[in-house]
Amino acid sequence: MPTPEIAQFLREEALSRFLRYVAVDTRSDEESSEHPSTPGQLNLARLVERELKELGLRDVELSAGGFLYGVLPASDGSKSPPLTFLAHFDTSPSESGAGVTPIIRENYDGGPIRFPKNPELVLTPEEEPDLLLFKGEPLITASGDTLLGADDKAGMAEIMAALAALVRFPGLTHPELRIAFTPDEEIGRGTDGIDLARLGKYGYTMDGGLIGELEDECFNAHKAVLLFKGRNIHPGYAKNKMINAAAIAARFIATLPEAESPEHTEKREGFFHLTELKGDENEAKATMIIRDFEAPENARRVELLRRLIAAFEIRYPGLEIRPAFTEQYRNMNEVLSQHPALVEKARRAMAAAGVQEIRKAIRGGTDGARLCFMGMPTPNVFAGGLRFHSKTEWIPVRALQKAGETIVHLCRLWAEEGE
Ligand SMILES: [Zn+2]
Repeated sequence: MPTPEIAQFLREEALSRFLRYVAVDTRSDEESSEHPSTPGQLNLARLVERELKELGLRDVELSAGGFLYGVLPASDGSKSPPLTFLAHFDTSPSESGAGVTPIIRENYDGGPIRFPKNPELVLTPEEEPDLLLFKGEPLITASGDTLLGADDKAGMAEIMAALAALVRFPGLTHPELRIAFTPDEEIGRGTDGIDLARLGKYGYTMDGGLIGELEDECFNAHKAVLLFKGRNIHPGYAKNKMINAAAIAARFIATLPEAESPEHTEKREGFFHLTELKGDENEAKATMIIRDFEAPENARRVELLRRLIAAFEIRYPGLEIRPAFTEQYRNMNEVLSQHPALVEKARRAMAAAGVQEIRKAIRGGTDGARLCFMGMPTPNVFAGGLRFHSKTEWIPVRALQKAGETIVHLCRLWAEEGE
């Protein structure tokens, strides 16, 4: 069990590393075709590479694609297969990550939080009730002109702090740990080119929100691109001849159930989401994404689109609609439910760290979901930050410590019990 001394060590280690990591600008860039997409991510990778070597990890390597790996050998008598903890270097393209100046608000008073570099900006407990869970405690924010970068530098700092504790306190048992820090998660490329041979049998991403969050489900995701082929004729002489692809595409989209859209759904409800519509009389293209937690629901939506296409081709003779459906990712629960020990140990590790569990289904995808289907079952554990991707992003210092404690407990449970 982490003693008060170890808990304090984890808190200080995670905090100092976190403050060091957020100072490096690692905003990723969707427009870039480089790997990683921005050079700043490599700057942080090199810094953490040095830290991993200082801790004495083996096989520390920064790969050409910007993946940083390192191995901590198992403690004596561990019964566990190798385990991987993951976090990502990059921050969201949605806000600047340059010159992040973190502010530690030592004793949060429960009132509105203001930002020195942006007098208009305010974060209040009315719009963010979770703030009140940490009244009287230290919180960290940015200064108002950038995001903070707790997503996911908190995860990195927590993993590094746990490694430091495992090295410093030999009484803490643990499996062989194969650490992986990854680039470009925010632009959906966080597992492109990852070396599976360097990863463990099971993994945990430290990339969730509020203290206690544990995520073992995400969306099933399809993309649908519909190409409408029409026929253009001079509008003055178009009667019974013109097939206006753009107008028909608009009618097609209008027949989709309005309530099944992102703006009308929450929790476990799925949706159709039109992301782009463009065209003219000859040709129009509608791009949409389809999301559900249950795979048969995704299939039902695809089938509904197919039937609508058939109906529209009957209604407008001469019209052709060419659909292309691609699977984007699948609900990781399909894999994780086959390996219940992963989530079950995470729940017990959190309980041992005194953390109240919040079980959640992610209304999106994660790198963990992709890793699940690549062969490494990987649920997502809280990193502790909130209001990700915004200038009001914040994290309580307690989250950094508790995530570190959760990792240490997880390591102990795996080492003692095995699979
Ligand atoms: Zn993240």
